Amino acid sequence: MPRAALLIVGSEMLDPRRADANGPLAHERLAALGIPLAQLARVEDREESIAAAVGAALATAEIVLLSGGLGPTGDDLTREGVARALGRRVVIDAGWLAELERRLVARGRPMSDHSRRQAHVVEGGEAIANGRGLACGTLLETGGRLVALLPGVPPEFAQMLEETVLPRIAERFPHRPAARLVRAVAAGLPEASAEPVLAPWYRRPGVAVSILPSLGVLHITFTLTSADPAELDALEKEARSHLARGLGEHLVSLDGTGLPEATGGRLLARGLTLAVAESCSGGRLAQRIVSVPGASRYFRGGIVAYANEAKVQLLGVPAALLERHGAVSEEVALAMARGAQERFGADCALSITGIAGPGGATPAKPVGLVVLAATTPGQAEVRSIHFPLDRDSIAALAANTALYLLWQALGRPPHGARRDHD
Ligand code: ATP
Ligand code: MG
Repeated sequence: MPRAALLIVGSEMLDPRRADANGPLAHERLAALGIPLAQLARVEDREESIAAAVGAALATAEIVLLSGGLGPTGDDLTREGVARALGRRVVIDAGWLAELERRLVARGRPMSDHSRRQAHVVEGGEAIANGRGLACGTLLETGGRLVALLPGVPPEFAQMLEETVLPRIAERFPHRPAARLVRAVAAGLPEASAEPVLAPWYRRPGVAVSILPSLGVLHITFTLTSADPAELDALEKEARSHLARGLGEHLVSLDGTGLPEATGGRLLARGLTLAVAESCSGGRLAQRIVSVPGASRYFRGGIVAYANEAKVQLLGVPAALLERHGAVSEEVALAMARGAQERFGADCALSITGIAGPGGATPAKPVGLVVLAATTPGQAEVRSIHFPLDRDSIAALAANTALYLLWQALGRPPHGARRDHD
């Protein structure tokens, strides 16, 4: 079974806090082809380091992908590093050079020695067309192995992987087991609580389990492989029902659909509209909601009311309530939600108020204390949560938790009605 390696090239990517967008995409798309990632590494912009990493990757993987370092500047050295590892040269690709000239003329920019570098390929390889940027990639074969050099810019990487590299991999390595992905999204439970659900699957043959906790949301992927299609169907069915049973009310979706989209789906299904009122999350919640195409069908708008006066003036929170309970209180969170609901004429509302720190804490109200409220027709729910994190993570976690609160509330039978089953 062929295995793949992915090298993320770029000195800026060596900061572990820097999120890598290309690794997760390649991992998932290769898995869908039945190809596991044997190695995922970050490499500095240095020719010797790139060459060494390519040599090591070729020793374990039949497919080696590189992301980044194809730009025009002197620190873009991926081609040179791969060429050095393979004992080849870097040469110009005449076809892409002509295309590059055409595109530069169209942009009114002159061709320079720097920009010419973007038409360089590793000798013996073919240029991979770049639909969005100027640098071409390289696709080459060496000793029965496939090596692809792709730009680091995530949309360019994604398009070239999808359009050129994956089809070539499928063609070059036809003997792959059939694969299927089950992508569960769960919210409102810590990673440790998901562990007993996943544990029985870790050692099953033909099953690879990955779990990625991300600010209140767990992304769980089962990659299932089998040479027998009937067996694969049965395995997928079993995995789906196992995850649905094990994750219960925390399961948002089994197809990778996230909270903003799932919540939007429930609003649409019930014909309800939504408004939000935010303080410490500074608009993060509204941003998550509008990240879903078509959100205009249910989202009316949001108010960021950071100062107490803004909470009074824009959301109609009674000043006395703020004085008596403080801005970070269940009473104020609920009044903020009701204010947003009324000002926007929405059916449902969410609110977030909290202490993002590092200052502003009191003995009773520590940094990371966040109060959330969700109102739906006939129901209101308030929750106080303590997330002792940095400002940015507190805002993101608060936004996700608020969405989870509403998603849950919308999953319950409407007020007055009772159902035994969903
Ligand atoms: P460019 O022509 O822009 O120089 P390149 O192929 O040389 O393209 P890089 O210089 O490595 O690519 O990266 C270009 C931009 O894309 C940078 O802002 C970089 O931080 C970002 N980037 C590179 N790799 C990744 C990655 N794996 N995930 C997210 N962003 C990335
Ligand atoms: Mg670059």
